[in-house]
Amino acid sequence: MEVTIIERGGVIGPGLAYRTKEPLHTLNNFAGRLSAVEGDPDHLLRWCIEQGISATPTSFLPRALYGRYLVAVFESTPVPDGSALHRLHGTVVNVRRHGGQSLVQLSCGATIESDVVVLALGNPPPRRHSSFEVLGDRYLADPWADDVVQRVRSSCEVLLLGTGLTMVDVVAQLQKTAPGTRFTAVSRRGLLPTAHRPGSRRPHDIFDPGCGDLDTVLRRVQERVADLGEVGGDWRDVVDSVRASANSLWAGFSSEDQDRFIVQFARHWEIRRHRIPPEMAAHIASLQQSGDLQIARVEDVDPWRFDRVINCTGPAPVPTRGWNRLVDCLLEQRAIRPHRLGLGLDLSPEGAVIDSAGRTNPAMFAVGAARRGIEWEVAAVPDLRTQAARLAVRLLSDPASTSDRARPARGTVTSA
Ligand SMILES: Cc1cc2nc3c(=O)[nH]c(=O)nc-3n(C[C@H](O)[C@H](O)[C@H](O)COP(=O)(O)OP(=O)(O)OC[C@H]3O[C@@H](n4cnc5c(N)ncnc54)[C@H](O)[C@@H]3O)c2cc1C
Repeated sequence: MEVTIIERGGVIGPGLAYRTKEPLHTLNNFAGRLSAVEGDPDHLLRWCIEQGISATPTSFLPRALYGRYLVAVFESTPVPDGSALHRLHGTVVNVRRHGGQSLVQLSCGATIESDVVVLALGNPPPRRHSSFEVLGDRYLADPWADDVVQRVRSSCEVLLLGTGLTMVDVVAQLQKTAPGTRFTAVSRRGLLPTAHRPGSRRPHDIFDPGCGDLDTVLRRVQERVADLGEVGGDWRDVVDSVRASANSLWAGFSSEDQDRFIVQFARHWEIRRHRIPPEMAAHIASLQQSGDLQIARVEDVDPWRFDRVINCTGPAPVPTRGWNRLVDCLLEQRAIRPHRLGLGLDLSPEGAVIDSAGRTNPAMFAVGAARRGIEWEVAAVPDLRTQAARLAVRLLSDPASTSDRARPARGTVTSA
């Protein structure tokens, strides 16, 4: 097996989420849940001990530290004799099929031949909001851009579009770098992320929602939350149990139930399922109390009143055009198509891409945010870990499914 990882950034591992240097940007889940290695839940904690970093299963570690961990995991990956792992710095701009092979084209003009390609492209920047672009320099379209900190000076008025995890990140950072800044965060419903319970233990599967249609599952969940509340239990444990079977529940829903979930319940689910550390929740609450952070409805604010407007609406769907030349080219060539719901790519249950004619391509797979639609929980570390492990087993069991079995299989991952 010969694997080539192609990454356009300087380092393989941290990606967009974990390249931040801000210590207040912590992981949104317990260290005990975020091992990078499937089947080895203590891997991250052991690494921390080896590094002399104090961490318990319920610690919320800085994301920068987690980025270092991912780099270390990758660098220490054992490569069996007879196999090879190559790293390539470059931007993939296209993949074409030719003579039973995938030709992976880089922006520098180089081409790599491969039996199988895995798209691991991560998250696009937030959706465009053209109505705010008229604000010119005042409008910051990408909250993760390196220049956000430089463009917000002290004591200014900042409007944040979105009240979710990205808003929390941006407030935490700018509070430090631009003291005296006053924030107004807007969204349609004004719902903020909920908090983890301090000192919660590691996951416990206390509840099996079974299978059924959306109304049946909702009813069971509500009943379980109520029952648990009566004996002093915590709704978060129910949410975490449901989350563990969310993808099989999702697959069992009818199209109508999936549509209804997105319109009526998705946001309520997101704020309960992606929770922030209790310390950060207390910090956000104190800013609200002091008036430094106000939550409003988008229609109630005049964006021209603000010195800066920052788009914190979360990543756009992967099939969005314009964020990644590779995605644009594959869409153009009809080699991929958006999933019916438009949230990710249309994929087989194993993650193989489906072209615009509805044909499954057994030589190209996708992991991560691109899976949203065929699955519901796709982008957090536990989801990525499971997807990667399953796909690895699949490729190992049938590595050269698409080409000449006489020679070693070659795979390309774009990117880390
Ligand atoms: C701000 C943020 C915070 C998050 N925090 C958490 C958290 O606390 N806990 C949690 O469980 N999950 C979290 N997530 C979700 C998830 O864990 C991360 O997004 C995770 O890094 C996703 O991994 P990935 O490999 O899919 O994408 P990434 O880590 O983003 O990696 C994709 C890589 O592909 C490269 N790339 C893209 N296109 C090309 C191309 N054409 N050619 C070459 N290279 C290319 C990019 O440069 C990038 O390095 C967070 C997500 C975000 C955005």
